[in-house]
Amino acid sequence: MAQRELLKQVTSGSTENLQIANAWLENCRHNHMSCKPQKPEHWLPTRLLYVGTENMPTLRLIMGSSTNIETEYAALSHRWGTNKSFVLTLANRERYLQGIPPSNISSTLQDAIHITRGLGLQFLWVDSMCIVQDDASDWARESATMSRVYGLSTCTIAAANSGSGDAGCFATRNPHRVRPCIIPNPFKADSKYSFYVRSQYLHTIHRNEVKDSLWYNRGWVFQERTLSRRLLLFGKTQMLWACEELQAAETWPCGKTSKNFIDQFESFEVERARFRALLDQSRGVATDNYTWMAFIQDYTRAKLTRMTDKLAALQGLATQVENLTGQQYCAGFWLNNNLATSLLWAAVKPPFPSPPEYRAPSWSWASIDGAVNFNHGRFHGTKMIQVLGKHELSDLSHNKSSDNRKPPRTALQLSGKLLPITLLRLHDGTPDRLVAQRVMKTEPGPVHEPKPLGTVSQ
Ligand SMILES: [Zn+2]
Repeated sequence: MAQRELLKQVTSGSTENLQIANAWLENCRHNHMSCKPQKPEHWLPTRLLYVGTENMPTLRLIMGSSTNIETEYAALSHRWGTNKSFVLTLANRERYLQGIPPSNISSTLQDAIHITRGLGLQFLWVDSMCIVQDDASDWARESATMSRVYGLSTCTIAAANSGSGDAGCFATRNPHRVRPCIIPNPFKADSKYSFYVRSQYLHTIHRNEVKDSLWYNRGWVFQERTLSRRLLLFGKTQMLWACEELQAAETWPCGKTSKNFIDQFESFEVERARFRALLDQSRGVATDNYTWMAFIQDYTRAKLTRMTDKLAALQGLATQVENLTGQQYCAGFWLNNNLATSLLWAAVKPPFPSPPEYRAPSWSWASIDGAVNFNHGRFHGTKMIQVLGKHELSDLSHNKSSDNRKPPRTALQLSGKLLPITLLRLHDGTPDRLVAQRVMKTEPGPVHEPKPLGTVSQ
């Protein structure tokens, strides 16, 4: 390949790369039945960025209600970093409806706009510019729509290489290292088949470019990538694609299909498959919570800038399951027959620190910092408790807060049998490990008066 052609491809945002991305998108649109929405739905976010086209670039904020409801849009999944300069505010939102100066957007957003135009789309949703960042009520309203924003986007652009808005999406690299080397068949000159030499396996690329990135471990990203039907990722050396039926990268442009199990380790397929299983379970195929608990175990290992967002950053996933199944959700749990089992969570590294501010009921895994595990299956098949209802508790000190991003205090009313237990501290070199042990076997007794679990657990 001529040196001049190579130089054009030095950035992962090159024209050649966007042509590859377009080919992935078109293949998915036309050939992947699994990637079509389960429920066709015409819906648009409250606000979008109108980016124009490559030939007629422009940038302004538009209201979804003023746009054709069948308009396609891309969504951006990114890590903000510490720079909060380039955001939508009460002061600039009217002005931005007329136009947004290029100097008022971050490098990552500039690159995302370039990708959006390259994909032939004219609209882009990004949280920093489509949610009014200094209006808590706007944030509460818009963050509740995340399941639709990402679930209905034509493609989600993931800035996996970017630790902040200043870093941009694209990587500078030697394209020789990421593109496959094609060797014509030396044994048969007229063969239509060739040999391909590639630098890495697909699962290795996924681990290096995605799983080890700062983006991957961000709490909000957990649901953004799980809800998205199509992901176009920009890693530290190359571009990747992930949808229900294909995982690909520049090194593997034809990718691996979901029917090929070789490279499914450490891939998005695991999370997507788990999400599909969750929806199936919630429809009544199964009644256990194991899939949800596996989700939560992974989620609690992700990082959040604001720990009070712990439930909010997962609400989009919960909302989608609720909408599709009608199941009732509360503070990180599904109120089905196996609620008692899911309440048996434990911090991985106790004693866990007491959060300085309220973020969830004390019985919820979301009430603490750090990772949790669930004690699967101890009471499988046993109906331990009955959910009588849930309600929000009035709390004067809580309601006086000016921070409307705080989650409401929630209580469950349950009925069931209470058994006396004691907590023992083990002297086996793990002094912080606490074990609950029943000290007195009791016969089944009368059902106790229901009490809110938030007080029972004190
Ligand atoms: Zn697809």
